[in-house]
Amino acid sequence: MSQSLATVAYLGAAILFILSLGGLSNPETSRRGNLLGMIGMALAVLATVFGPRVGPSGLAWIIVALVIGGGIGLYAAKVVKMTQMPELVALMHSLVGLAACVVGFASYVDTSVPFQGAEKLIHEVEIYVGILIGAITFSGSLIAFGKLAGRIGGKPLLLPARHWLNLIAVLMVIGFGRAFLNAHDVQAGMTPLIVMTAIALVFGVHMVMAIGGADMPVVVSMLNSYSGWAAAATGFMLNNDLLIVTGALVGSSGAILSYIMCNAMNRNFISVIAGGFGSGAPAKKPAGNGEAAEPQGEVVSVSAQETAEMLREAKSVIIVPGYGMAVAQAQHTVYEITKTLREKGVDVRFAIHPVAGRMPGHMNVLLAEAKVPYDIVMEMDEINEDFPEADVAMVIGANDIVNPSAAEDPTSPIAGMPVLEVWKAKQSIVMKRSMASGYAGVDNPLFYKENNRMLFGDAKKMLDEALGALKG
Ligand code: NDP
Repeated sequence: MSQSLATVAYLGAAILFILSLGGLSNPETSRRGNLLGMIGMALAVLATVFGPRVGPSGLAWIIVALVIGGGIGLYAAKVVKMTQMPELVALMHSLVGLAACVVGFASYVDTSVPFQGAEKLIHEVEIYVGILIGAITFSGSLIAFGKLAGRIGGKPLLLPARHWLNLIAVLMVIGFGRAFLNAHDVQAGMTPLIVMTAIALVFGVHMVMAIGGADMPVVVSMLNSYSGWAAAATGFMLNNDLLIVTGALVGSSGAILSYIMCNAMNRNFISVIAGGFGSGAPAKKPAGNGEAAEPQGEVVSVSAQETAEMLREAKSVIIVPGYGMAVAQAQHTVYEITKTLREKGVDVRFAIHPVAGRMPGHMNVLLAEAKVPYDIVMEMDEINEDFPEADVAMVIGANDIVNPSAAEDPTSPIAGMPVLEVWKAKQSIVMKRSMASGYAGVDNPLFYKENNRMLFGDAKKMLDEALGALKG
């Protein structure tokens, strides 16, 4: 393939990626967005593999790598459960970071292209910054993977003087950067480069370890952004325009997503990054009266049949799905119930919290998979005021996102996070298996409210029973 043909293909791929992002912004166009992204990526891979920069010997290596990498990717995509998607995404981010590091070291030791003067300086800055972002992304994403998979606890690790430690790390990175750029040859530059990589790896671990359970959504989108910048840095090192454009698209859209997530959770972006939020400590004092905010009272449990009865008698029902719906894979039954109720003239709507589940848009994906019409799926801001008019608010495997202590208890680790105010409905029903807390590890006073009922059990099983009772 000639250089000009490869350039045209790259341009086409870049346009397809932009159209893909546009499509992904809306559930109705997201399938098309995905398709455009896939075509763009196929075009990009073909133009790179068969492009002018790959010789016949290189081609053989690339095909071997494609077969191995593609095989692992296909296998992972086949076996991964929907609830493990966030972990998989975190692992993928870590691979982008690792790739940036490996490419960085390879570019540094590769002396086949002799850079001189300003060009040499720019190339070395690209290498240094690329490895820096790559190493932070790599180790940070691995810790995020551990936290999302439940292998590492959600409590933030708060080292004494952690901000000073971070500052010292930044100063050392700058200092070693100077030494790296002043080095006369590759051998002399290697030591500062390796030391900086080690510091960046530790920094990535520390950064994500310091973030508490409740703030993980911001970290997930932030690492997504970092992986984009790492890819863009790789693009600079390899002098590959498409990688620069693609990396910048991922980096900036991830940054915008982080901002949106922070707004949705009423968090200050810088404070989240600095760490220490969402400590998972039990709530101690409620606002004002100084008494312990330990949940008080008794929970009242109901059966699936009683739940069906309440739903049948309601005129307006709001369903709040959460992570438990994903675990139970209950979305199809949820839709069956929705259809049955709507046929009986009940107004049914869904309330989606921006951080419900374990990844941005988790609930929207599940509901779309079950073919729930988009016009009854509402964002938190669109529906939160309607709870007082709802006869029943049915919470399916959600916990943190419906926790009133976020609004009522300033000492709660999730204080200030806007939540779906299900307790304002005439009746709320919470469906979960036990009294266990959610991802943030915070007690939930909702369970003890007078107008709340608990339906204990696996969401799919309970909803199947309720559906049977509704139809029977
Ligand atoms: P939570 O984790 O707060 O609660 C989920 C609840 O589902 C649990 O309390 C659990 O209770 C219940 N559950 C689990 N399995 C089942 C099942 N099979 N059947 C019925 N219930 C089940 O989830 P939410 O969606 O309410 O909130 C999301 C949380 O995740 C927030 O804290 C958010 O910050 C965090 N997060 C979100 C990310 C995102 O991007 N969306 C990323 C990372 C973290 P029990 O065990 O008793 O059944």
